[in-house]
Amino acid sequence: MHNTLQNDLDNLDYLLSLTKDKAAAYLNDINDKPVSINNVQGTIPINLPENGIGLEDTIKAFYEQHQDKILASSGPRYWGFVTGGTTPAAIAGDWLSAVFDQNPQGLKGAGDVSANIELQTINWLIQLFGLPSYFKGGFVTGATMSNFTSLAIARQWAGKQKGVDIAREGIKTEIRILTATPHSSAIKSLAMLGLGSSNIIAIKTADGNREAMDTADLEVKLLENKDFPVIVISSAGTVNTVDFDDMQAISDLQKRHTFYWHIDAAFGAFAACSEKYSHLLNGWQFADSITVDCHKWLNVPYDSAIYLVNEKHSALQLQTFQNSNAPYLGDPATDFSFLNFGPENSRRLRALPAWFALQAYGRNGFGWIVENNIVLANQFAQLLEEKTIFKLTAPVRLNVVCFSIADEKKRSGKLALVLEKLKSSGKLFISPTSYKGIPCLRAAFVNWRTTDEDILIAIDELIKAS
Ligand SMILES: *Cc1c(COP(=O)(O)O)cnc(C)c1O
Repeated sequence: MHNTLQNDLDNLDYLLSLTKDKAAAYLNDINDKPVSINNVQGTIPINLPENGIGLEDTIKAFYEQHQDKILASSGPRYWGFVTGGTTPAAIAGDWLSAVFDQNPQGLKGAGDVSANIELQTINWLIQLFGLPSYFKGGFVTGATMSNFTSLAIARQWAGKQKGVDIAREGIKTEIRILTATPHSSAIKSLAMLGLGSSNIIAIKTADGNREAMDTADLEVKLLENKDFPVIVISSAGTVNTVDFDDMQAISDLQKRHTFYWHIDAAFGAFAACSEKYSHLLNGWQFADSITVDCHKWLNVPYDSAIYLVNEKHSALQLQTFQNSNAPYLGDPATDFSFLNFGPENSRRLRALPAWFALQAYGRNGFGWIVENNIVLANQFAQLLEEKTIFKLTAPVRLNVVCFSIADEKKRSGKLALVLEKLKSSGKLFISPTSYKGIPCLRAAFVNWRTTDEDILIAIDELIKAS
């Protein structure tokens, strides 16, 4: 064996402990680590090492080169985008996923235990969300890929309405897409699927400072497009104000009109974990497919989301994703395999962090995380209005606070300045956005570590920055 590899193999215990110690030191200090860094200019690319230096020195080299530029994005005051943290159980699952290095494919042959673990994890998540067992699903890298996977099945469904097998023949029929406030990744998926990112018919938003769709307008547009296959993309939690489309009303429309209904519930699905908020999802069980991100509110490391598809579409799903030219992979019609069920072939055991987290903390633990984040969002919003120059731009509907400055003339310059100042103090990360044309800031609460002490620090930082 190559010398350096042999040496690392001989010292495996020591080297893994060293890595563990570094990891624990980082996580133990995460509350005090900066959440933004002024100068992120990376090191100038250097030449590929001819001779490696082995793992011990590589750990040193990594920390020397990059340590001071790593943001505490899984810490308690990183409130930009919708960024979850990583629980201890999720980290353990993620590490072991690399240790076992399985490829969850089918139930026969390679990767059978890991495919079972993935199916079990999907089943647990379906139970967590209170969804019926007719949903079948799998893991992908993120909600973007989940939207892509779901909309690929929607595309196949649309073709079938006109007698076209799009997976085999290409898009030979016109497809109409109706949506009100889609996430940018749903639009990107339409681009990747050849459906066209600008090929969207916009549904009006409901009256009264809402991002949810006006379902009366949806019905008008369904009638106008009744001669075409229609895909409706709805939101269970918009990113700015966490507004939910009226799922009950959309499911009622299914009784009078034919359309494929996809719900992007990337983080809004977790409203199901709260007795007080689960009603926002009433009716979602009638969707054809649902997107859920796990690296947001499930607090597992990045690279984790699921698609859930009504099993009545399993045949369309198989047509869309089957590896038809590889007889050694079994008969796709009879041997279940993730290879023929989703966009990827080889994958890591991506379900393991979620399996660990759900086993470790259960329904109760995730109910607590969700409720706690919602309480914190409301506390933050209240203090913001009481103690700072900021005003809410929309009510706090779940776990995101969207806010701006009352004085319209000073608004955009002032917000940029506030962000600049926050960046140099490194104690609070929030992101800029635009809501109904108004420049705003938004704070998203999804991290299990955040406490009311963090709310006070954040308010203090915002006062200092403005
Ligand atoms: C975050 C998010 C996405 C995209 O998720 P990625 O994990 O970044 O791919 C899609 N939809 C919604 C509603 C989101 O919040």
